[in-house]
Amino acid sequence: MNLLVVGSVAYDTIETPSGRADAKLGGSATYFSAASRYFTDVGVVAAVGSDFEAEDRALFKAWGVDTAGLETIQGRTFRWSGLYEEDLNAAITRETQLNVFAGFSPRLGAAQRNAPHLFLANIDPGLQRSVLDQMDRRPGLVASDTMNLWIDTSKPRLTEVIRDVDALLINEGEVRLFTGERGIVAGARALLDLGPRTVVVKRGEYGVAVFDRDFTFALPAYPVPAVADPTGAGDSFAGGFMGYLAATGETGEEAVRCAAVAGSVMASFAVESFGLDRLCSLTAEDIRRRFEAFADLTRFNALGGGEGLPLRERDG
Ligand code: AMP
Repeated sequence: MNLLVVGSVAYDTIETPSGRADAKLGGSATYFSAASRYFTDVGVVAAVGSDFEAEDRALFKAWGVDTAGLETIQGRTFRWSGLYEEDLNAAITRETQLNVFAGFSPRLGAAQRNAPHLFLANIDPGLQRSVLDQMDRRPGLVASDTMNLWIDTSKPRLTEVIRDVDALLINEGEVRLFTGERGIVAGARALLDLGPRTVVVKRGEYGVAVFDRDFTFALPAYPVPAVADPTGAGDSFAGGFMGYLAATGETGEEAVRCAAVAGSVMASFAVESFGLDRLCSLTAEDIRRRFEAFADLTRFNALGGGEGLPLRERDG
């Protein structure tokens, strides 16, 4: 197992301007697994209830994801209900039922404790901490995500997690909520000061900005003609981002830039359909073509053989 994720496995009820879906398989660890498994061997740590459908568990297996850490607990699976109004960048949470996640305390097996790459997907920061603490040795790369609920209810514990990760993936609105800074540059700097080497700010349809201690990098989102359902875009981004880094074993600047593109590619597929449908049915060629489309989307060459800008010469 090259990449371990802890996070939610959920049944989501979602309403967007394009439609509605009830009790669809979702959750942060699910979207992350669905995206990252195209790149590397993934293992999942999460809890599901006795109502979890056999076909949903089979889906993880079909993806080649190691489900030894997918524990079934008597009770109901985590449920989240969300609404997107005109602004598709911001989910409005209607209801969160932690169900079997309340009091879930995973015990990692040897393969999980030795995973060289770890993603702490959006879930209670206490659970993120518990998984990080159980690792036999610190993975080469640890990254985490979170959401407004945990910033509102568990900020001290969340801060302790952020201090110990290499990379933090976070939404623009959550940067503001966590740091109190209005601008994302100042907000990202405040987060870097806590300890991570890299802060990746997810900006929905406006793309992503990477603030590393040594460089800054920004990308637009892929121009998807019709966004059906933004749910899981952040987790799919994380899956592409971490999948790329885990598969290459690299963490340098060029790798992080390419990982941000890979993340953006996976997020762009995730939003094209409700739930996991599009993300689940990709070919390697689909992913490769969209990765190349990003190179074209962001390419520019200075006219005049690199002479630079055609500025008028003026004195003073
Ligand atoms: P995102 O990638 O940010 O759109 O994440 C969407 C997923 O997050 C949904 O599939 C939800 O099941 C999951 N989710 C929502 N609220 C929570 C929460 N409080 N803890 C863990 N997962 C959540």
